[in-house]
Amino acid sequence: MLRWMMLKLSQSTQMKNLLMRFSSFRKAKERFVAGETLDELVTVVKRLNSSGMKTSVDYLGENVSSPEQAAMNKAMYFSLLDRIRHEHLDSHVSVKLTALGLDINEHICAQNLEDIVAKVRDTGSFVRIDMENSPYTERTLQAYRTVRRKYSHVGAVIQSSLYRSQQDVMGLIKEDIANIRLCKGAYLEAKTIAFPQKKDVDQNYLVLAKLLAESTYTNDVYPAYATHDEKMITSIKNHTKKIGLPLQWFEFQMLYGIRPDLQKQLMDEGYIVRVYVPFGKDWYGYFCRRLAERPANVWFVMKNLFR
Ligand SMILES: Cc1cc2nc3c(=O)[nH]c(=O)nc-3n(C[C@H](O)[C@H](O)[C@H](O)COP(=O)(O)OP(=O)(O)OC[C@H]3O[C@@H](n4cnc5c(N)ncnc54)[C@H](O)[C@@H]3O)c2cc1C
Repeated sequence: MLRWMMLKLSQSTQMKNLLMRFSSFRKAKERFVAGETLDELVTVVKRLNSSGMKTSVDYLGENVSSPEQAAMNKAMYFSLLDRIRHEHLDSHVSVKLTALGLDINEHICAQNLEDIVAKVRDTGSFVRIDMENSPYTERTLQAYRTVRRKYSHVGAVIQSSLYRSQQDVMGLIKEDIANIRLCKGAYLEAKTIAFPQKKDVDQNYLVLAKLLAESTYTNDVYPAYATHDEKMITSIKNHTKKIGLPLQWFEFQMLYGIRPDLQKQLMDEGYIVRVYVPFGKDWYGYFCRRLAERPANVWFVMKNLFR
Protein backbone atom coordinates (compact mmCIF):
# COMPACT_ATOMS: atom_id res chain seq x y z
CA MET A 1 0.00 0.00 0.00
CA LEU A 2 2.79 2.42 1.01
CA ARG A 3 4.74 1.45 -2.10
CA TRP A 4 1.68 2.07 -4.25
CA MET A 5 1.11 5.46 -2.61
CA MET A 6 4.72 6.60 -3.02
CA LEU A 7 4.85 5.47 -6.65
CA LYS A 8 1.63 7.39 -7.34
CA LEU A 9 3.16 10.44 -5.61
CA SER A 10 6.25 10.13 -7.79
CA GLN A 11 4.04 10.94 -10.81
CA SER A 12 2.09 13.83 -9.25
CA THR A 13 3.15 17.36 -10.20
CA GLN A 14 0.87 18.85 -7.51
CA MET A 15 2.50 16.82 -4.75
CA LYS A 16 5.89 17.61 -6.19
CA ASN A 17 5.17 21.35 -6.02
CA LEU A 18 3.91 20.99 -2.46
CA LEU A 19 6.71 18.79 -1.10
CA MET A 20 9.47 20.81 -2.77
CA ARG A 21 8.52 23.77 -0.52
CA PHE A 22 9.85 21.89 2.53
CA SER A 23 13.56 22.31 3.07
CA SER A 24 13.64 19.05 5.07
CA PHE A 25 12.26 17.19 2.03
CA ARG A 26 14.86 18.80 -0.24
CA LYS A 27 17.59 17.96 2.27
CA ALA A 28 16.46 14.32 2.62
CA LYS A 29 17.22 13.63 -1.05
CA GLU A 30 20.94 13.98 -0.33
CA ARG A 31 21.00 10.40 0.90
CA PHE A 32 20.24 9.09 -2.61
CA VAL A 33 21.25 11.92 -4.96
CA ALA A 34 24.84 13.07 -5.38
CA GLY A 35 23.91 16.74 -5.83
CA GLU A 36 22.34 19.07 -8.31
CA THR A 37 25.51 20.16 -10.15
CA LEU A 38 28.27 18.46 -12.09
CA ASP A 39 30.85 19.67 -9.54
CA GLU A 40 28.94 18.06 -6.66
CA LEU A 41 28.62 14.85 -8.68
CA VAL A 42 32.32 14.72 -9.51
CA THR A 43 33.21 15.08 -5.81
CA VAL A 44 31.04 12.05 -4.97
CA VAL A 45 32.35 9.95 -7.87
CA LYS A 46 35.96 10.72 -6.90
CA ARG A 47 35.23 9.65 -3.32
CA LEU A 48 33.66 6.38 -4.48
CA ASN A 49 36.44 5.71 -6.99
CA SER A 50 39.10 6.32 -4.36
CA SER A 51 37.48 3.67 -2.17
CA GLY A 52 37.64 1.20 -5.08
CA MET A 53 34.06 1.46 -6.38
CA LYS A 54 33.25 1.94 -10.02
CA THR A 55 30.27 4.15 -10.84
CA SER A 56 27.57 4.70 -13.42
CA VAL A 57 26.24 8.26 -13.48
CA ASP A 58 22.67 9.21 -14.34
CA TYR A 59 21.69 12.80 -15.15
CA LEU A 60 18.17 13.08 -13.74
CA GLY A 61 15.49 14.51 -16.01
CA GLU A 62 13.07 11.92 -17.37
CA ASN A 63 9.95 12.47 -19.54
CA VAL A 64 11.01 15.65 -21.31
CA SER A 65 8.34 17.17 -23.53
CA SER A 66 10.34 19.34 -25.94
CA PRO A 67 13.26 18.68 -28.32
CA GLU A 68 15.09 21.59 -26.67
CA GLN A 69 14.95 19.92 -23.24
CA ALA A 70 16.16 16.65 -24.77
CA ALA A 71 19.04 18.53 -26.44
CA MET A 72 19.92 20.15 -23.10
CA ASN A 73 20.04 16.74 -21.45
CA LYS A 74 22.30 15.47 -24.22
CA ALA A 75 24.56 18.51 -23.77
CA MET A 76 24.80 17.73 -20.05
CA TYR A 77 25.87 14.15 -20.88
CA PHE A 78 28.55 15.60 -23.17
CA SER A 79 29.85 17.80 -20.32
CA LEU A 80 29.72 14.83 -17.98
CA LEU A 81 31.71 12.69 -20.43
CA ASP A 82 34.31 15.45 -20.76
CA ARG A 83 34.70 15.49 -16.98
CA ILE A 84 34.95 11.67 -16.90
CA ARG A 85 37.74 11.79 -19.45
CA HIS A 86 39.68 14.80 -18.15
CA GLU A 87 39.48 13.78 -14.51
CA HIS A 88 40.10 10.07 -15.21
CA LEU A 89 36.93 8.99 -13.42
CA ASP A 90 36.22 5.26 -13.38
CA SER A 91 32.64 5.74 -14.51
CA HIS A 92 30.03 4.67 -16.98
CA VAL A 93 26.90 6.67 -17.78
CA SER A 94 23.27 5.60 -17.48
CA VAL A 95 20.62 7.24 -19.67
CA LYS A 96 16.84 7.18 -19.71
CA LEU A 97 15.35 7.37 -23.17
CA THR A 98 12.49 9.64 -22.06
CA ALA A 99 15.19 12.13 -21.02
CA LEU A 100 16.41 12.07 -24.61
CA GLY A 101 13.00 12.64 -26.18
CA LEU A 102 11.29 9.24 -26.45
CA ASP A 103 7.92 10.84 -25.56
CA ILE A 104 8.32 13.41 -28.34
CA ASN A 105 9.64 11.47 -31.28
CA GLU A 106 11.52 8.17 -31.60
CA HIS A 107 13.87 9.57 -34.25
CA ILE A 108 14.95 12.53 -32.10
CA CYS A 109 15.54 10.13 -29.22
CA ALA A 110 17.48 7.64 -31.37
CA GLN A 111 19.72 10.42 -32.71
CA ASN A 112 20.41 11.82 -29.22
CA LEU A 113 21.21 8.33 -27.97
CA GLU A 114 23.56 7.62 -30.86
CA ASP A 115 25.32 10.98 -30.36
CA ILE A 116 25.95 10.09 -26.70
CA VAL A 117 27.09 6.55 -27.51
CA ALA A 118 29.44 7.87 -30.23
CA LYS A 119 30.91 10.41 -27.81
CA VAL A 120 31.33 7.72 -25.15
CA ARG A 121 33.45 5.70 -27.59
CA ASP A 122 36.08 8.48 -27.50
CA THR A 123 36.18 8.45 -23.69
CA GLY A 124 36.55 4.68 -23.22
CA SER A 125 33.43 4.66 -21.08
CA PHE A 126 30.16 2.72 -21.49
CA VAL A 127 26.46 3.61 -21.79
CA ARG A 128 23.74 1.73 -19.94
CA ILE A 129 20.20 2.41 -21.18
CA ASP A 130 18.02 2.42 -18.05
CA MET A 131 14.64 0.69 -18.27
CA GLU A 132 11.58 2.80 -17.48
CA ASN A 133 7.98 1.63 -17.01
CA SER A 134 6.32 -0.89 -19.28
CA PRO A 135 4.91 1.50 -21.96
CA TYR A 136 8.58 2.04 -22.88
CA THR A 137 9.92 -1.52 -22.62
CA GLU A 138 9.61 -2.57 -26.26
CA ARG A 139 10.77 0.77 -27.68
CA THR A 140 13.73 0.86 -25.29
CA LEU A 141 14.85 -2.63 -26.29
CA GLN A 142 14.43 -1.78 -29.97
CA ALA A 143 16.51 1.39 -29.55
CA TYR A 144 19.12 -0.72 -27.76
CA ARG A 145 19.23 -3.27 -30.58
CA THR A 146 19.64 -0.53 -33.19
CA VAL A 147 22.49 1.25 -31.44
CA ARG A 148 24.13 -2.03 -30.34
CA ARG A 149 24.46 -3.09 -33.99
CA LYS A 150 26.87 -0.19 -34.48
CA TYR A 151 28.56 0.10 -31.07
CA SER A 152 29.59 -2.53 -28.54
CA HIS A 153 29.99 -0.26 -25.48
CA VAL A 154 26.30 -0.09 -24.70
CA GLY A 155 24.06 -2.25 -22.54
CA ALA A 156 20.41 -2.76 -21.62
CA VAL A 157 18.38 -3.30 -18.45
CA ILE A 158 15.87 -6.07 -17.75
CA GLN A 159 13.32 -6.00 -14.91
CA SER A 160 12.50 -9.35 -13.28
CA SER A 161 9.04 -8.01 -12.37
CA LEU A 162 7.81 -8.27 -15.98
CA TYR A 163 6.34 -11.51 -17.37
CA ARG A 164 8.04 -10.85 -20.71
CA SER A 165 11.57 -10.59 -19.27
CA GLN A 166 12.58 -14.23 -19.66
CA GLN A 167 11.77 -14.04 -23.40
CA ASP A 168 13.67 -10.77 -23.65
CA VAL A 169 16.73 -12.19 -21.92
CA MET A 170 16.73 -15.33 -24.09
CA GLY A 171 16.36 -13.18 -27.22
CA LEU A 172 19.27 -10.91 -26.30
CA ILE A 173 21.44 -13.92 -25.44
CA LYS A 174 20.65 -15.54 -28.79
CA GLU A 175 21.49 -12.32 -30.61
CA ASP A 176 24.81 -12.14 -28.70
CA ILE A 177 24.06 -8.71 -27.27
CA ALA A 178 23.23 -9.64 -23.67
CA ASN A 179 25.13 -6.99 -21.77
CA ILE A 180 22.36 -6.77 -19.22
CA ARG A 181 21.79 -5.02 -15.92
CA LEU A 182 19.28 -7.21 -14.13
CA CYS A 183 17.05 -5.41 -11.63
CA LYS A 184 13.67 -6.14 -10.04
CA GLY A 185 11.85 -3.09 -11.46
CA ALA A 186 11.04 0.18 -9.73
CA TYR A 187 7.69 1.11 -11.30
CA LEU A 188 4.01 0.53 -10.64
CA GLU A 189 2.75 -2.01 -13.17
CA ALA A 190 -0.58 -3.72 -13.91
CA LYS A 191 -1.11 -7.38 -12.92
CA THR A 192 -1.48 -8.19 -16.61
CA ILE A 193 2.10 -7.10 -17.24
CA ALA A 194 4.07 -7.76 -14.07
CA PHE A 195 4.12 -10.24 -11.19
CA PRO A 196 1.98 -8.68 -8.43
CA GLN A 197 3.69 -10.70 -5.67
CA LYS A 198 7.20 -9.79 -4.55
CA LYS A 199 8.10 -13.47 -4.01
CA ASP A 200 7.49 -14.13 -7.73
CA VAL A 201 9.58 -11.11 -8.74
CA ASP A 202 12.39 -12.46 -6.54
CA GLN A 203 12.04 -15.99 -7.90
CA ASN A 204 12.15 -14.68 -11.48
CA TYR A 205 15.21 -12.60 -10.58
CA LEU A 206 17.08 -15.76 -9.62
CA VAL A 207 15.94 -17.64 -12.73
CA LEU A 208 17.19 -14.81 -14.96
CA ALA A 209 20.38 -14.34 -12.94
CA LYS A 210 21.29 -18.01 -13.42
CA LEU A 211 20.35 -17.97 -17.09
CA LEU A 212 22.68 -15.04 -17.67
CA ALA A 213 25.53 -16.53 -15.62
CA GLU A 214 25.35 -19.87 -17.42
CA SER A 215 25.21 -18.25 -20.87
CA THR A 216 28.48 -16.34 -20.41
CA TYR A 217 30.39 -19.47 -21.48
CA THR A 218 28.71 -19.84 -24.86
CA ASN A 219 27.61 -16.32 -25.82
CA ASP A 220 28.75 -12.72 -25.56
CA VAL A 221 27.00 -12.12 -22.24
CA TYR A 222 27.89 -9.76 -19.40
CA PRO A 223 25.54 -9.75 -16.38
CA ALA A 224 25.39 -6.75 -14.05
CA TYR A 225 23.38 -7.85 -11.02
CA ALA A 226 21.66 -4.73 -9.66
CA THR A 227 20.19 -5.49 -6.25
CA HIS A 228 20.64 -4.82 -2.54
CA ASP A 229 18.84 -8.03 -1.64
CA GLU A 230 21.24 -10.22 0.33
CA LYS A 231 19.29 -13.38 -0.57
CA MET A 232 19.71 -12.66 -4.29
CA ILE A 233 23.36 -11.75 -3.83
CA THR A 234 24.17 -14.88 -1.82
CA SER A 235 22.46 -17.11 -4.40
CA ILE A 236 24.34 -15.42 -7.23
CA LYS A 237 27.64 -15.76 -5.39
CA ASN A 238 26.97 -19.46 -4.71
CA HIS A 239 25.85 -20.18 -8.26
CA THR A 240 28.70 -18.34 -9.99
CA LYS A 241 31.18 -20.16 -7.72
CA LYS A 242 29.51 -23.50 -8.49
CA ILE A 243 29.81 -23.00 -12.26
CA GLY A 244 33.32 -21.53 -11.93
CA LEU A 245 32.52 -18.12 -13.38
CA PRO A 246 35.56 -15.79 -13.10
CA LEU A 247 34.84 -12.71 -10.95
CA GLN A 248 35.68 -10.39 -13.88
CA TRP A 249 32.89 -11.83 -16.02
CA PHE A 250 30.06 -10.16 -14.11
CA GLU A 251 29.47 -7.38 -11.61
CA PHE A 252 27.22 -6.28 -8.78
CA GLN A 253 25.55 -2.89 -8.90
CA MET A 254 23.87 -0.88 -6.14
CA LEU A 255 22.35 2.55 -5.79
CA TYR A 256 24.17 5.47 -4.23
CA GLY A 257 23.24 5.72 -0.55
CA ILE A 258 21.90 2.17 -0.19
CA ARG A 259 23.81 -0.53 1.68
CA PRO A 260 27.31 0.99 1.42
CA ASP A 261 28.36 -1.69 3.95
CA LEU A 262 27.34 -4.45 1.55
CA GLN A 263 29.00 -2.66 -1.38
CA LYS A 264 32.28 -2.60 0.56
CA GLN A 265 31.94 -6.21 1.70
CA LEU A 266 31.50 -7.42 -1.89
CA MET A 267 34.43 -5.33 -3.06
CA ASP A 268 36.62 -6.73 -0.28
CA GLU A 269 35.63 -10.22 -1.41
CA GLY A 270 37.02 -9.40 -4.88
CA TYR A 271 33.78 -8.73 -6.78
CA ILE A 272 33.41 -5.81 -9.18
CA VAL A 273 31.02 -3.32 -7.59
CA ARG A 274 29.48 -0.41 -9.47
CA VAL A 275 27.47 2.30 -7.75
CA TYR A 276 24.68 4.02 -9.66
CA VAL A 277 25.03 7.73 -8.92
CA PRO A 278 22.23 10.12 -9.95
CA PHE A 279 22.60 13.90 -10.00
CA GLY A 280 20.68 16.92 -11.24
CA LYS A 281 17.87 19.24 -10.23
CA ASP A 282 15.07 16.94 -11.41
CA TRP A 283 15.42 14.41 -8.58
CA TYR A 284 11.79 14.26 -7.36
CA GLY A 285 10.62 11.10 -9.24
CA TYR A 286 13.84 9.20 -8.54
CA PHE A 287 13.72 10.13 -4.85
CA CYS A 288 10.07 9.00 -4.47
CA ARG A 289 10.90 5.65 -6.08
CA ARG A 290 13.66 5.14 -3.49
CA LEU A 291 11.23 6.02 -0.69
CA ALA A 292 8.71 3.54 -2.11
CA GLU A 293 11.20 0.70 -1.84
CA ARG A 294 11.43 0.83 1.94
CA PRO A 295 8.73 1.96 4.42
CA ALA A 296 11.41 3.10 6.90
CA ASN A 297 12.57 5.70 4.34
CA VAL A 298 9.06 7.18 4.15
CA TRP A 299 8.68 7.40 7.94
CA PHE A 300 12.06 9.06 8.22
CA VAL A 301 11.11 11.77 5.70
CA MET A 302 7.59 12.23 7.19
CA LYS A 303 9.01 12.63 10.69
CA ASN A 304 11.31 15.41 9.50
CA LEU A 305 8.55 17.09 7.47
CA PHE A 306 6.30 17.53 10.48
CA ARG A 307 9.00 18.41 12.92
C1 LIG B 1 22.32 -0.15 -9.95
C2 LIG B 1 20.83 -0.18 -10.06
C3 LIG B 1 20.23 0.25 -11.22
C4 LIG B 1 18.84 0.19 -11.35
N1 LIG B 1 18.26 0.51 -12.55
C5 LIG B 1 16.94 0.35 -12.70
C6 LIG B 1 16.31 0.55 -13.96
O1 LIG B 1 16.94 0.86 -14.97
N2 LIG B 1 14.96 0.36 -14.03
C7 LIG B 1 14.21 -0.01 -12.95
O2 LIG B 1 13.00 -0.19 -13.08
N3 LIG B 1 14.78 -0.17 -11.74
C8 LIG B 1 16.11 0.00 -11.59
N4 LIG B 1 16.67 -0.21 -10.35
C9 LIG B 1 15.82 -0.33 -9.15
C10 LIG B 1 15.39 -1.76 -8.90
O3 LIG B 1 14.51 -2.17 -9.91
C11 LIG B 1 14.70 -1.90 -7.53
O4 LIG B 1 13.57 -1.08 -7.48
C12 LIG B 1 15.60 -1.57 -6.35
O5 LIG B 1 16.91 -1.93 -6.58
C13 LIG B 1 15.12 -2.30 -5.07
O6 LIG B 1 15.17 -3.68 -5.27
P1 LIG B 1 16.23 -4.67 -4.57
O7 LIG B 1 16.74 -5.56 -5.65
O8 LIG B 1 17.26 -3.91 -3.88
O9 LIG B 1 15.38 -5.57 -3.63
P2 LIG B 1 14.31 -5.29 -2.48
O10 LIG B 1 13.72 -6.60 -2.19
O11 LIG B 1 13.42 -4.16 -2.85
O12 LIG B 1 15.22 -4.80 -1.29
C14 LIG B 1 16.12 -5.68 -0.64
C15 LIG B 1 16.75 -4.93 0.51
O13 LIG B 1 17.57 -3.87 0.00
C16 LIG B 1 17.47 -2.73 0.80
N5 LIG B 1 16.85 -1.64 0.02
C17 LIG B 1 16.27 -1.75 -1.21
N6 LIG B 1 15.84 -0.55 -1.63
C18 LIG B 1 16.13 0.32 -0.64
C19 LIG B 1 15.94 1.72 -0.48
N7 LIG B 1 15.36 2.46 -1.44
N8 LIG B 1 16.38 2.29 0.67
C20 LIG B 1 17.00 1.56 1.62
N9 LIG B 1 17.21 0.24 1.51
C21 LIG B 1 16.78 -0.38 0.41
C22 LIG B 1 16.62 -3.11 1.99
O14 LIG B 1 17.48 -3.58 2.98
C23 LIG B 1 15.77 -4.25 1.44
O15 LIG B 1 15.32 -5.10 2.44
C24 LIG B 1 18.05 -0.24 -10.24
C25 LIG B 1 18.67 -0.68 -9.08
C26 LIG B 1 20.03 -0.67 -8.98
C27 LIG B 1 20.66 -1.22 -7.74
